Amino acid sequence: MFSQRELATMLAALRCWQHQMAGDRSMPSPFASHFDEAHPLTPAEIDALCEQLNTSVTSDDFVEMCHTVAESATHWAHCSDWREACAVFAELGLRCRQLLERAKLWKPEPCECEQPGYFQCGVPGILAHLEGGKLESGSAVERCDLCQRYPSDEAALVRLREMGIA
Ligand SMILES: [Zn+2]
Repeated sequence: MFSQRELATMLAALRCWQHQMAGDRSMPSPFASHFDEAHPLTPAEIDALCEQLNTSVTSDDFVEMCHTVAESATHWAHCSDWREACAVFAELGLRCRQLLERAKLWKPEPCECEQPGYFQCGVPGILAHLEGGKLESGSAVERCDLCQRYPSDEAALVRLREMGIA
């Protein structure tokens, strides 16, 4: 994970490199030795990389979140309404979770439908009993109401059909 400054510098360097690539390609690059064993990215690939970097979470985002939590915590001790304090706590927790998800650092606990059991079919969000990797005709297929990955039982069945299981 990079800081805002590191990210900005990398983006500028990438754009600079991309600009140079668009110019006279026959000119020997002073960085040619970096590409002895790998081809440099194409301008389109650099665009994609810049986009990826642009939307990535920085260490500054985490520092900012820690400040927000710390500042909020100093007020809790003086709060006489616990429901209010709990609401603030829930809101901060949600924001921390969203930040971790954005940074791809949040691994949610597996849902009940993913735990071993009679109706575990190997497809998260779908409950169905399989025999030899297949659904027996007429067997029930239900979407998991806990994680609600599928909008309906019907949608869950459609997914199993797509996968060749049903
Ligand atoms: Zn589930």
